[in-house]
Amino acid sequence: MSGRTHPLLRTDLHTHTDFSDGRDPLDQVVAAAEKAGLHTLVLTDHVRADTTYLPRYVTAVRDARATTPVRLVCGVEAKIRDTEGRIDLPDDITGIDHIALADHRFPLPDGPAHPEAVRDRLDAGTMSRTEALALLVRATARAIGRIPAGRTAHLAHLFSVLPKAGLDEAEVDAPLLAPLARACRDHGVTVELNEKWQCPAPRTAALLSGAGVRLAAGSDAHRADAVGVFPWVARALAETEARCTP
Ligand SMILES: [Zn+2]
Ligand SMILES: [Zn+2]
Repeated sequence: MSGRTHPLLRTDLHTHTDFSDGRDPLDQVVAAAEKAGLHTLVLTDHVRADTTYLPRYVTAVRDARATTPVRLVCGVEAKIRDTEGRIDLPDDITGIDHIALADHRFPLPDGPAHPEAVRDRLDAGTMSRTEALALLVRATARAIGRIPAGRTAHLAHLFSVLPKAGLDEAEVDAPLLAPLARACRDHGVTVELNEKWQCPAPRTAALLSGAGVRLAAGSDAHRADAVGVFPWVARALAETEARCTP
């Protein structure tokens, strides 16, 4: 444990193993969490509606619990599909306790769009920047309302899709963010500060925190040696808290 001063940094809310696109197997990821001094490790391998590995994954995480003092949470990361907030999850998620909601595509009324396609629409003037931002915020808020019963959830790398679509998180103001903050607060959904994508920015995090949303830390580690390693998150948390203190 190396100067892990902030209590939020003792939980890594977002990690991958070789069940999806992580490099390392579960036992190495768990060992890395121990080495990093984590209290809680949330495993969030990627799923889609047609994913079939979940029964093996759930069993593996359950078995790993007997081997470590670290609290293991069996989660998945799934994308928000459209502005109704539909989530790209398999029908049967037995044994899955946590959902990381991700903006891997831009959720539009007719389904998930490549961010480049949104950029084209913005450039062509067929969609306004405000409209695009409002669609993303609405989709995310509605997805929160669709989290399957009995599961905890968090927003993974909130607004990571914006730069890919030629949009800027700084364009998201407090009124636009308000419905999303309310949905997070009402459903107990946390918002992750994501080490890999370095988002959301402290400005956004402070707006959310000021609206009563709980923040958390996620490495988005795709290899064991990145688990619980939070240099950007630590700085961003400090800056967020400085903004929240009048
Ligand atoms: Zn992701
Ligand atoms: Zn991820």
